[in-house]
Amino acid sequence: MKCRRKHLWPFLNLMSNGIYVHIPFCLAKCGYCDFNSYAGKNDLIESYVERLLKEIKTKAGAKVDTVYIGGGTPTILKANLLCEILNCIFDCYEVESGAEVTVESNPATADLTKLKELIKAGANRLSIGVQSFHDNELKALSRIHNASDAQKAVLTAKEAGFENINIDLMYGIPLQTLFSFEETLERAIALDIEHISAYSLIIEENTPFWYQNITVPDEDEERDMHSLAIEKLKENGFMHYEISNFAKRGKKSRHNMRYWIREPYFGFGAGAHSFFGEHRYENVKSIEKYIWAENPVCSDLEISQSEAENERFMLGFRLIDGFETRGHFADRLEALKEKGLIFYENGNAKLTKRGLDLANQVFMEFVGED
Ligand code: SF4
Repeated sequence: MKCRRKHLWPFLNLMSNGIYVHIPFCLAKCGYCDFNSYAGKNDLIESYVERLLKEIKTKAGAKVDTVYIGGGTPTILKANLLCEILNCIFDCYEVESGAEVTVESNPATADLTKLKELIKAGANRLSIGVQSFHDNELKALSRIHNASDAQKAVLTAKEAGFENINIDLMYGIPLQTLFSFEETLERAIALDIEHISAYSLIIEENTPFWYQNITVPDEDEERDMHSLAIEKLKENGFMHYEISNFAKRGKKSRHNMRYWIREPYFGFGAGAHSFFGEHRYENVKSIEKYIWAENPVCSDLEISQSEAENERFMLGFRLIDGFETRGHFADRLEALKEKGLIFYENGNAKLTKRGLDLANQVFMEFVGED
């Protein structure tokens, strides 16, 4: 694939960037999902990819060390289209050797041939949306796969040759108990994978769950589930490095780390976000508008220095190792320390055990202007 290397912003070539590519198609919409994803629009896939390739080329020439193809369900695309996207990135950017290249998948959409093709095209990390290893919980979430599909998906990924696999799990879901979550964790651990993300179910406004009378475990149970995940995964060789993320040694998600330490990334595709040069950009969400837009960027927000500090604190507290406060927000930090929510270690501020349980209280301190 031919690609003209443009001279864009000089600073983009000084540091390594991340690339996020959004694939907004899904086979069915899950009841809790408020991501920019759509079911029943697969007839738009080809024109979407065509537009996407054009957008990807707009930052050609920049250095890149993480690539993340997320969604939606990227693996809903045929292998040749997914590979075309990866080829375009490798052809147009200075992708560093050893770069982390992740593709998200859904257990019902990734067969062995497709996964092998992805590896050939440069993918080296697969992130599988498992959520639970209990069929009744998956059904309650209106996921299209069952527990055995999820198990098979991980085994197929290994057979294809992936040596860096993440699975997403969820807690606080309908019908789930502490015991059933423990079983899910045990099944995940037994799969001997490198990374686990465990998120609590959040019922977002305007999702089908928002309008239904869904019963979910209460806050205390949810907290116990989070603590259980921390305890169990640590016991089994995972490092807890971010509130919801656990990795074996050397397998932290480098792409996601970018978001938390405010490193630059380009987002391509409908609804994708970018961050570089202290600007945050957002693309139009609608697939149709994205395909037809001359310029898909619909929002360009310059981040002031004080907003940047707020962001640094909000994101930094997500990291279990914490971050350097550099003398900012001394009063607020003192108050949080007095409440037992944060502490200092090796020059970094970080959440205490109680702070982990009440993390939102800490984040709220850094929302908005100084
Ligand atoms: S598979 Fe993921 S992106 Fe698609 S509808 Fe379900 S939760 Fe949303």
